[in-house]
Amino acid sequence: MRYSELVEVCEEIEATTKRLEMTDSLVKLFKKTPAELIDKVIYLIQGKIYPDFVGIKLGIAEKLAIKAISQAYGVDKNEVLRDFKRLGDLGTVAKELAAKRTQAVLASAPLTVERVHETLDEIARASGARSQEAKIGLLAGLLADATPKEAKFIVRTVTGKMRLGIADMTILDALAIAYTGEKENRKHIERAYNTSSDLGDVAKTLATSGLEGIKNYKIRVGRPIRMMLAQRLASADEILNKLGGEAACEWKYDGERIQIHKKGKEVILFSRRLENITEQYPDVCATVREHVQCNEAIIEGECVAVHPDTGELLPFQELMHRRRKYGVEDAAKKFPVSLFLFDVLYIDGEDLTQQEYIVRRKKLEEIVRCDERIRLTEMLRTSDLSEVERFFEHAIEAGCEGLILKALNGVYQAGARGWLWIKLKRSYQSKMVEPIDVVVVGAFHGRGRRSGSYGALLAAVYDKENDVFTTISKVGSGFKDEDLENLPKMLSPYEIEHVHPRVKSEIEADVWFTPSVVMEIIGDELTLSPVHTTAFGKIREGAGIAVRFPRFTGRWRFDKSPEDATTVEEIVEMYKSQLKKVE
Ligand code: AMP
Repeated sequence: MRYSELVEVCEEIEATTKRLEMTDSLVKLFKKTPAELIDKVIYLIQGKIYPDFVGIKLGIAEKLAIKAISQAYGVDKNEVLRDFKRLGDLGTVAKELAAKRTQAVLASAPLTVERVHETLDEIARASGARSQEAKIGLLAGLLADATPKEAKFIVRTVTGKMRLGIADMTILDALAIAYTGEKENRKHIERAYNTSSDLGDVAKTLATSGLEGIKNYKIRVGRPIRMMLAQRLASADEILNKLGGEAACEWKYDGERIQIHKKGKEVILFSRRLENITEQYPDVCATVREHVQCNEAIIEGECVAVHPDTGELLPFQELMHRRRKYGVEDAAKKFPVSLFLFDVLYIDGEDLTQQEYIVRRKKLEEIVRCDERIRLTEMLRTSDLSEVERFFEHAIEAGCEGLILKALNGVYQAGARGWLWIKLKRSYQSKMVEPIDVVVVGAFHGRGRRSGSYGALLAAVYDKENDVFTTISKVGSGFKDEDLENLPKMLSPYEIEHVHPRVKSEIEADVWFTPSVVMEIIGDELTLSPVHTTAFGKIREGAGIAVRFPRFTGRWRFDKSPEDATTVEEIVEMYKSQLKKVE
């Protein structure tokens, strides 16, 4: 098939913004395309050579493309650069230079779709010491044989600037019309696309096996399933109603969504955008290999950064350490993650996407051997509004973003943002702008590097009215190694058998202290908490106030007596005055 046929259609599409006209042009193109080439044609009109998840990408630097253009048309690099500055698009530069050249192109055979695809593939794959020259040579060769219009689109494709604005849905429409004569059939084709995220493969199946082939289109391990997304409503009440009165409430973790494909010992990870991110998480792959007990599986979960010594959940930003090419193994040790699984879509040949949520959740429980690096999301099945609210506060305090409420009988709606999953986030947030002074009233034994010392301290503020200390936070961050070493010695004089009579705590600490030592902490915000006793019931029934993401500032306030610590009254004031609407 001639590449020029594809380019003609690209030109038509470029000239319109109307979706119907685009669809018509695509239908015309698909009808002309031999079945064995339809996948390549689809990738090429989208400016790609493979579906995104394959991870072989074009997008060569403009500097390289300029060299190739200069070589192909025998003009100086600076001249190409000048034209580029004038025209603002390298594709158009190539088109003009191709039109000006003196020797006729006609001598060479016309470019075919096959040749263009194959050469672009070679360009994308060229690696190693002399790869730059190789890429330039291959591209120049292609441009030398291209017509001006073809040159324009080749250059745009290799530099990743195709941008015709063809939505996936437009391609699905065009496929339905071209191959079945009815746009109605798009729903079947779309389902197949949601199953594989590969428009090329879907089109080829349609072209070779018709609508029957599409209806039988199956999940395959290694091809990402387009992810199900959540709607949002403002209150727990509305959400419960929408879900029929009862729901599975899950913590909404603040990490990165991962779709995990396991085939024997092989594990592939896909991001929310369906990119292959296996390399970023070698530790996750190893955990899955060891803890997911079936041969083949597709499961989903949220990967969350955790504190190496205390296991506390950390904010999403901490995952940035994994976005690197080199030293990932080191980063994995220094910045560990835990995986919180929430769905299973496929096990050993069985497609589970049409099963109800509860069935899927049960299967997930059955195949995963949990430990601290891999477990299921915290989940509460309830129809009681106040239980949902308490669970929400737990989630926020633990470092999550809120809850996702899921329909108990809901299927997995691949590629859809439907009403079977509804998220509940906060509408208000109380920013914490200044540090507070807290009294150490208890401690928790450390693990890992912190074994022998404490992993976290239980901190309280002073309730003047009742002359007691109420808990506000479990502080495990911000301690230097020497702080940690000294903690047991420093606190041992105050150690007591039971919780101190003046301490009001709902939390069971491993070790209790007489309130004596004061330290300064800061956090990201103050939140409502069902477990901390500070200002309990003052802002909302059944909830106290807590510090979210607390850390020790490094300042021990030996100058302060416990009664000089920040008071409950001050905390309530801070909470109210720092309240901000979350957009
Ligand atoms: P949003 O990105 O705000 O639309 O929220 C949806 C995202 O929340 C999902 O794509 C997941 O990455 C993430 N998430 C965290 N916890 C869960 C959970 N328990 N169930 C589903 N998604 C979750």
